[in-house]
Amino acid sequence: PLSLLKDPTLFKTQAYIDGQWIDSARRFAVTDPATNAELAQVPALEPMHAQLAIDAADAAWPAWRALPAKQRAAILRKWFDLLVANADDLARLMTAEQGKPLTEAKGEVLYGASFVEWFAEEAKRVYGETIPSPDATKRLLVLKQPVGVCAAITPWNFPLAMITRKVAPALAAGCPVVIKPAEQTPLTALAAAELAHRAGIPRGVLNVLTADAEGSIAIGKLLCASKVVRHLSFTGSTEVGRILMAQSAPSIKKLSLELGGNAPFIVFDDADLDSAIEGAMASKYRNAGQTCVCANRLYVQDGIYDRFVERLAQAVGSLKIGSGFDEGVNLGPLIDDQALAKVEKHISDATSKGARMVVGGKRVEAGPHAGRFFQATVLADVTSDMLCAREETFGPVAPVFRFKTEAEAIAAANATEFGLAAYFFSRDVGRIFRVAEELEYGMVGINTGLMSNEVAPFGGVKQSGLGREGSHHGIDEYVEMKYLCLGDL
Ligand code: ADP
Repeated sequence: PLSLLKDPTLFKTQAYIDGQWIDSARRFAVTDPATNAELAQVPALEPMHAQLAIDAADAAWPAWRALPAKQRAAILRKWFDLLVANADDLARLMTAEQGKPLTEAKGEVLYGASFVEWFAEEAKRVYGETIPSPDATKRLLVLKQPVGVCAAITPWNFPLAMITRKVAPALAAGCPVVIKPAEQTPLTALAAAELAHRAGIPRGVLNVLTADAEGSIAIGKLLCASKVVRHLSFTGSTEVGRILMAQSAPSIKKLSLELGGNAPFIVFDDADLDSAIEGAMASKYRNAGQTCVCANRLYVQDGIYDRFVERLAQAVGSLKIGSGFDEGVNLGPLIDDQALAKVEKHISDATSKGARMVVGGKRVEAGPHAGRFFQATVLADVTSDMLCAREETFGPVAPVFRFKTEAEAIAAANATEFGLAAYFFSRDVGRIFRVAEELEYGMVGINTGLMSNEVAPFGGVKQSGLGREGSHHGIDEYVEMKYLCLGDL
């Protein structure tokens, strides 16, 4: 698939440090999850390389922060234009290494690029404050200044967007960044770095470290321990988020964490059924269920339950499974064998405790590497004692729980340590406000299964993380307030 790139020079297999493409003696393989075929070998970097990147970023910082915001904005805007102009190639790289259907990959490229556009605009609006002074001889001001060298550790499920929504606000604010993309998906990150280079982002301001699983852990330790790195932004599992937070304690590092979710998706009797089914399909099966905001638990009220399950099963039957490059496919492979094993464990646990398999439930022969594909699945009569009620499945399985009252649904939805996204469907305006206010989540989709965009604050409460990405708030993570008190006037 990569021989079809319009611009083959976007296929980068070296790491990017201090404006240079660099190699290392050790390399590791990047594979296509649809076929298990090797796509490329990239450098297996070690902490010493991460140190070089930190040093380069530190050296680049003074000039980058001194640039007028308008100029940083112009460079970011150019990067945005190049990301969009090369969207087809970026999408091909993404589908190859991540597996998602090509149309979804293209959608992610445009979504990912939108953060660069947005923060290019926001760069010019990092306003300070003047505060009316309680003392007539003083004047009080607040400046907002870039926090310093930033590190970003990103996951494989959105190989571009999870990078741009950290990197774009950091660069816009005047911070240089060291990025460590997921070991499964470095090719999209490297292509984006090449485009950043072409856009004129100065050397050292953006660095991409490729590392295998073991190297990622070692590099993570160094990034956390470094006193030069002032801020770490991580998207990934809550488990790894906890490790990074603990490792960052000695340096009191600022943290932005986008961690796991366990999204409830509630359908009340008064919902519009068509809209609830459409929302469930979009929220559950996008990226084969591998997003942190995917509906993980579907709670459906008694009066509409049977019709909902029947309609969902019908809709699921129309999904086409296969390689993301094949025409019409909307369900690609899972990322790896562990992902498949987790899906199977959740299903067998549920059925052993009385859940009913309505549709799906099996691996599919859909390509040369048959084992990576899993049928879109609907489980009915699911109860709270099952694993899928507590853990994120991260696969194409919709467990449907039955409930009677609004209070019961809210209590069940909130009975988790996670608090990222929640969804509910209702046409009753009183209920809409009651439920939206009661859900302990950072984001609530009402009568929709899709809510992410660059202008809105994305993030979680409870153990789903710290901070917000996107929106005009997103840049706050990358600036420090400095209070100036001018006396003796
Ligand atoms: P996922 O479950 O989505 O794979 P992870 O949290 O395991 O999420 O990984 C997300 C990112 O964190 C990846 O870039 C991965 O390499 C990195 N990572 C995983 N474990 C560690 C660790 N102990 N220290 C630093 N980075 C890590």
